[in-house]
Amino acid sequence: MTVHTQPRVAVDAEFSMIIDGRPVTTPTTAPVFNPATKQVIAQVPVASQQNLDDAVAAAGAAFATWSTTPLENRQAAVAAIGDRLEAHAEEFLNLLTAEQGKPRAMAEWEVYGSIAWFREVAKQSLPEEILLDDTERRVISRNTPLGVVGAIVPWNFPILLAVWKIAPALVAGNTMIVKPSPFTPLCDLKLVEIVQDLLPPGVLSVVSGDDELGKWITSHPAIAKIAFTGSTETGKHVMRSAADTLKRLTLELGGNDPAIVLPDVNPAKVAPQIFWAAFQNNAQFCNAAKRIYIHDDIYDAVRDELVKYAETVVVGNGADEATQLGPVQNAQQYDKVSEYFADSLANGYRFAIGGHIDRTREGWFVPVTIVDNPPENSRLVVEEPFGPILPILRWSDEADVIARANDTVWGLGATVWGEDLEAIERIGRQLDAGTVWLNEVHQYSPHQVFGGHKQSGLGAENSLHGLAEYTNHQTITLNKQKGSVS
Ligand code: NAD
Repeated sequence: MTVHTQPRVAVDAEFSMIIDGRPVTTPTTAPVFNPATKQVIAQVPVASQQNLDDAVAAAGAAFATWSTTPLENRQAAVAAIGDRLEAHAEEFLNLLTAEQGKPRAMAEWEVYGSIAWFREVAKQSLPEEILLDDTERRVISRNTPLGVVGAIVPWNFPILLAVWKIAPALVAGNTMIVKPSPFTPLCDLKLVEIVQDLLPPGVLSVVSGDDELGKWITSHPAIAKIAFTGSTETGKHVMRSAADTLKRLTLELGGNDPAIVLPDVNPAKVAPQIFWAAFQNNAQFCNAAKRIYIHDDIYDAVRDELVKYAETVVVGNGADEATQLGPVQNAQQYDKVSEYFADSLANGYRFAIGGHIDRTREGWFVPVTIVDNPPENSRLVVEEPFGPILPILRWSDEADVIARANDTVWGLGATVWGEDLEAIERIGRQLDAGTVWLNEVHQYSPHQVFGGHKQSGLGAENSLHGLAEYTNHQTITLNKQKGSVS
């Protein structure tokens, strides 16, 4: 494994919140760091409660006109936002790498994915259904927008996971206030800023601040819905806080995705695919394969191929062209991931590769680490490390491995790998997860429903199911008979 940390990325833009179509700064600011260098790269506003109230008031006023703007116009505006993002793609690629740490290829996946999302969601709609229309009665089922929606975004995919919320919310006729993660606010602040001329003031605002701001949003009486992506723990706080005003909620939370590897795979061919299933985005991926169950017959061979492949992977500053994996995104996460290294070491687990964090490194770098068959009840297997330390485990009985895969509070994603397509589908159908990928991973689409089972979430994003979550259902019935009321 090669480690690089050069060169640095310069970020010299000014960053403001956008409230009611206008840039807003605050007397207090918060620093944003480049995780590859630990250098401060920008200062961002820290919103006050008054700033949030202003944003909510503007979004509430804008809702009256935006919700009655013809659907085609709202769709056109969302598609135009995609075009605008494309026109600024290079800027966003650099900014994303600088604030998040991800290398160029992953930044491209996120930025170009976001552009595609705006364009595809702009084609979606929820047409009215006429359930009955005869001489006596008409019954219509339709969807109406909710009002002001708060979008709360994590730091691992700061643009894409905001776009998954902005695009459907606006198409459905809502107005939205985005709150980025305090660790990665730059791309979201810029995105909302550069699209203001495409929307009436107040339709799309962005406020930056700390976790307190999140609490103000989730308890604000004039916000109708919270679209949240983040940890399960925070998701539970959001749900509690939203209960008082019975807000609609979409919660996309944590995961502990199992990968099951069958004995008929070619170890050399499957190893790179499993490696990236686990380590893409430096394993800071809700849908990272977080427990790899490898059949006993091929366990040693797959482990050795995983190690061989891992040795070729370049870890470094995402701004360096050769880099394939960046740093851990922030100091808090670095400390959390470090705990899993310490715990594995203390318990004498065997490291197939990695295991030692070099704390003299310039950025929050952690080596790619694979832990060889730790106990099923180890912290590493049971919890969500959300960093590049991966347990691989042995299995020999199909029913047993399915039970182990499902024995978790989470149910976000899962993968099964094997030549026998019938077998992988048979196993996949028994996994309790929102998305099950067979011989592939991380395939998402704006038209494919995404959401977690169990404590991985509530509701769904993407597809018409996701769009419908930005609406209320309404039934209108009409008695057509003359003389029935006069
Ligand atoms: P986090 O829960 O710490 O923070 C997420 C967002 O919530 C941030 O914007 C944060 O400022 C805000 N927040 C924190 N406390 C809050 C509170 N009390 N009320 C309201 N908002 C609050 O999560 P994170 O560390 O940024 O992201 C990593 C987690 O997100 C992992 O668990 C990962 O699995 C999960 N995730 C899930 C998905 C998914 O789609 N299911 C996608 C990406 C990440």
